[in-house]
Amino acid sequence: MEDAAMETQGWIFNRAEDLRDWLAAQRASGATIGFVPTMGALHAGHGSLVARSVGAGHRTVVSIFVNPTQFTDQADFEGYPVTLAEDLKGLRAWGAAAVFVPTVDEVYGGETAMESVNWGPAFGGYEAADRPGHFDGVVAVLDRLFRVVAPDAVFMGEKDLQQLAVVRVLASRRFPGLQVVGCPVVREPDGLAMSSRNRRLGAEAREQARALYRVLRRMGEEVVSGEAPTTALERGRRALGEAPGVRVFYLDLVQGEDFAPWSPAASGPTFAIVAAEVGGVRLLDNILLTAPSGGQGGAGEVTK
Ligand code: AMP
Repeated sequence: MEDAAMETQGWIFNRAEDLRDWLAAQRASGATIGFVPTMGALHAGHGSLVARSVGAGHRTVVSIFVNPTQFTDQADFEGYPVTLAEDLKGLRAWGAAAVFVPTVDEVYGGETAMESVNWGPAFGGYEAADRPGHFDGVVAVLDRLFRVVAPDAVFMGEKDLQQLAVVRVLASRRFPGLQVVGCPVVREPDGLAMSSRNRRLGAEAREQARALYRVLRRMGEEVVSGEAPTTALERGRRALGEAPGVRVFYLDLVQGEDFAPWSPAASGPTFAIVAAEVGGVRLLDNILLTAPSGGQGGAGEVTK
């Protein structure tokens, strides 16, 4: 027991001040810092971000913090899974160098009044429209965490594509030296995008949830075989609308980099994005349909 307690010392930090001291020592030894912010209930998707950061040579800090300010549904917040002991085991295996597990007070210092941010297309529509204030909360927490960790690079999942676009803008405005690295969606063997919320799907809903990626993949295949993205979208909407147990919030096309509305003349990567509720759980997913013009590939995830 004592050994285990000793072992966690210097590895898990609850206080920003202690983490800052540890970070200063790492930097003094020449290390660069990679950062992976999470809300815990970790899975292989999170693991891929940690592995990517470690693989890039960064000493990697992972935060586990269920951020109250980004929830727009109290029941979702209260029911958010917490699996800290399991998370720590995973983080050791993936090679994290430190874990930051702060309290709400440690992050916000009693000041949770949100600044309202609207810095471009990623801040309106889709998740921003369906969950008003959600990205204000995301920006609030990441702004604070980035100030504590002051990372060289932050690793975030393309699973939350709109959030990734929001963070790119936040970084460009407030953390100019920070590299934002988007990492591909990690999926269950049947294609469902991994998510902490998948744990809340009952057996029937879990089965029904497969429809999201099935439809996205189909759209990808159609575009690869020469169909216009808009035609694939129409078919996708019909198919998803008919999928049992799936309540669709949106299925649409966007330009991935900045989340601007899609147009045939768009030069950025085209993504199909989807949000739907299955078995009372809000699920998000997306697929790359066409790479930036002049780029290689497109519908890059179709073969996975
Ligand atoms: P969360 O704990 O849900 O806030 O997610 C923390 C980070 O992990 C975010 O950058 C997510 O986009 C990323 N992430 C979550 N699920 C996946 C997944 N299936 N594949 C890749 N990254 C993911």
